[in-house]
Amino acid sequence: MDEAEGGFTPVSQLNPSPEPRYRVRVRISRMWESFNPNNGTVFGLDTLLIDDEGGAMQARVHRKGKKRLEERLIEGKVYTLSDFEVCQSKGNYIKCRNPFMMNIGARTVVDEIDGGVNMIPLHHFDFVDFGDVPPLMGCNNSSLTDINFTDVIGQVVEVWPIQQVPKKLRVIEFCSLRIQDFSGKELDVTLYGKLGHEFYAEKDAKFLCTSTLKEIDCTQGWYYLGCVHCRQSICRDGSEFWCSQCDPVNKKRKRPVLRYKLNAMVEDDTATMNLMIFAEEAQGLIGITAEELLKEITDYGRCTMPAAISDILGSTHTFQVAVGNQSLSFVVKWVLDDDELTLLQHSGSVQLSVQATTILC
Ligand SMILES: [Zn+2]
Repeated sequence: MDEAEGGFTPVSQLNPSPEPRYRVRVRISRMWESFNPNNGTVFGLDTLLIDDEGGAMQARVHRKGKKRLEERLIEGKVYTLSDFEVCQSKGNYIKCRNPFMMNIGARTVVDEIDGGVNMIPLHHFDFVDFGDVPPLMGCNNSSLTDINFTDVIGQVVEVWPIQQVPKKLRVIEFCSLRIQDFSGKELDVTLYGKLGHEFYAEKDAKFLCTSTLKEIDCTQGWYYLGCVHCRQSICRDGSEFWCSQCDPVNKKRKRPVLRYKLNAMVEDDTATMNLMIFAEEAQGLIGITAEELLKEITDYGRCTMPAAISDILGSTHTFQVAVGNQSLSFVVKWVLDDDELTLLQHSGSVQLSVQATTILC
């Protein structure tokens, strides 16, 4: 067995083996509940894992183990995993091109890693040409065995209002949009449920600005406690937490997650303005999660700026911003990296990356 430094096997070298003794160090880049959109049957929890060599593999926590792991596994965090199974990718509900996938079972040992994990990228995309997006083979097939997940990038040219379609005992809500690539080729994309609602609510009034981070005001704190499933600030009831957005009625107990909340002042040639940078957008700039950072600086208070945050002062970025839902200040929706900026400059218009699920009902 080939092993990288530290006894970890690179994800690119994992393969089905009769006696798997692999140990990997991976970031959970994305995590989503996988379910049949026609009848709501939940298969489990799907995740996209990335290691420090940029290798990616999809891993599934099956339905039985979902409860044990869904509060332990957090999107964006880094874990060591051992005693898992590697098998041929089944080719359905799959998100990456790796021919193999991982099954995380009852015997799998999962340990969270703190600090020193900046070398593992936050995201992994396999952008495909619109012409190569798999066709809708799952259509009208109750087993939906041929569904694949694909990454596409393009300019949003049309957005339709949220639609509702009754399906057996449930109502499916979705937002349809059309995107266009550089050659003018178009692709229809459907965003389901909360994703569709969030996209529709935020589709208006986005601006791009290239500016330099001048100040970050930490006097009111640089983080907040958010819901593990959405970005809403979590509500506290004694020692218990619940989310007013995900579960306003039953107030079921939720684990809080530390997220960034940076009150920044940015400047360009024309003016200065306030910009709020939250959660993943701030994490992308700083390079580690808010939880990792807080653990590193236990000797400071919540309202003192950590060095990792002051390090980003003076850096210049292209931000996509919109007016926040609850305030009149601008909120960063996306920080464009060099590749995205190059794509943007070639097309001369705003690009949005969306995960195109080729599920249609
Ligand atoms: Zn929530």
